[in-house]
This record gives sequence, structure tokens and C-alpha cells, in this order.
Amino acid sequence: MLADLERLIRLQQTDLAAEAARRRIADHPTLVQSLDARLASATEALDTAKAGAAANQAARRAIEKDLATVQGRLTKFKDQLMDVKTNKEYTAMLKEIGAAQNEVRRFEDLILERMLEHDELAAAQKAAEARLASDKAVIAAERTQIEEETARLEREVEETVSARARLVVELSAAVLAIYETVREKRGTAVVEIKSGYCSACHVRMRPQAANELRRNDIIFQCESCRRILYFPPQAPTPADSADGAVL
Ligand SMILES: [Zn+2]
Repeated sequence: MLADLERLIRLQQTDLAAEAARRRIADHPTLVQSLDARLASATEALDTAKAGAAANQAARRAIEKDLATVQGRLTKFKDQLMDVKTNKEYTAMLKEIGAAQNEVRRFEDLILERMLEHDELAAAQKAAEARLASDKAVIAAERTQIEEETARLEREVEETVSARARLVVELSAAVLAIYETVREKRGTAVVEIKSGYCSACHVRMRPQAANELRRNDIIFQCESCRRILYFPPQAPTPADSADGAVL
């Protein structure tokens, strides 16, 4: 194979590897952001659960205070019951006592409701705490992984930069110029011939051209897409052989 053709193949591998590594590095901030968002959401869920439990406690204390007030009133009524002079007063006092007792029952029911609600809220808070703890561990591990990958990819990019520099020095300027022009336009500049076709644009080579290139000893551009073509250096596939027979 022509030395420059071989260098072009390596140059393209280097460029594609650099591009893939850079793309992957560029994705990392988004990945880190999604980890941050996940942590924020777990933290928020715990805050909400804690706020719910606190509100429940506050509500219960307020009801207990109301209950104590009514119970105080009830005790006072019961004491006063001994001192009433008339039936009318007695009946009125009993009515007051009955109303206060109803209120006591109502407050006791409300407290019971709050207690049941408290059990649910406490379970929810515990679940939120567990989720936050496990998310924190997973997120920390993933963050480390991303940091390690970033460092590895940055080393890879550095390596491709020096590999490229070495290849560029060895390549003839005219061949390099073709490569750069086509690569800028097409993304890839060097492609295999498969079964007599350009494997990128799928246009068939003229049999004459295919024959000229068979030994990969010239720089030959696809007549359609202008990419530099070569025959894969491995043993020809049955399709290639059949093709060769036709040519
Ligand atoms: Zn082509």
C-alpha cells in the first residue's frame, strides 16, 4: 500500500477518535447537571416530607390546646353545678356541660386523626430519608465515574493531537490538502471500496479505475463524493473476488 494512503487511514482513525472523545467530553456537563437535578429532587422530597410532619405536629398541638381550654371550662361547669339554686339554672348548666363534652369528643377525634396521619407522614419521611441516602451514594459514584472518564478522554485527545502532528509531518502536502478539504466537507475523507462501490456514497467505480487502484498504490478519489478510496487490505471477500472476475 502507498505509504501516504496508509498514513491517511491512520490520520482519519486518529481524527475520528479525537472527535468521538471530544463529543463525549462535551456531553459530561449535561450528565453532571442531571445528577445535580436528581439530588435536588430527592432533597426536596425529604424537605416536603419533613414540612408535612412538622405541620401535623403543630396542628395537633393547637387542637390539644383547644381541648385543654374546653376541659378547663367543663371542670368549672361541674363545680358550679353544685352551687346552682334553681331548676332552670341547673338545666342550663347541664346543657352547657353537654355542649362542652361534645366539644371534648370532637377534639379527641381530631387528635386521633392527626395521630394516624402522623404515622403515615413519619413513614413517608423515613422513606424519603432512605431514598436521599441511596441517591447520594449512587450520584457520588456516577460523578466519580464521569470525572475519571473525562480525565481518560482528555488524555486520549492529547494523544491524538501528538499522533496527528506526527502523521501530518510525514504526509505529502498535496495529499494532506485533499484529505483536509474532503474531510471538512464530508466528515470522512478515506473510505473502503466494497464490492466495487464507494462504501460512503455507494457509487460504483468504473472497472478501469478499480483495476488501477487494486494495489492501493495511488491516491484515488471517488468520482462522485471525492473521498479517497482504498481496497481493504485483508483477504478479498467473495463479493470482491466475484467483482474482480467480472472486471
Ligand atoms: Zn463516493
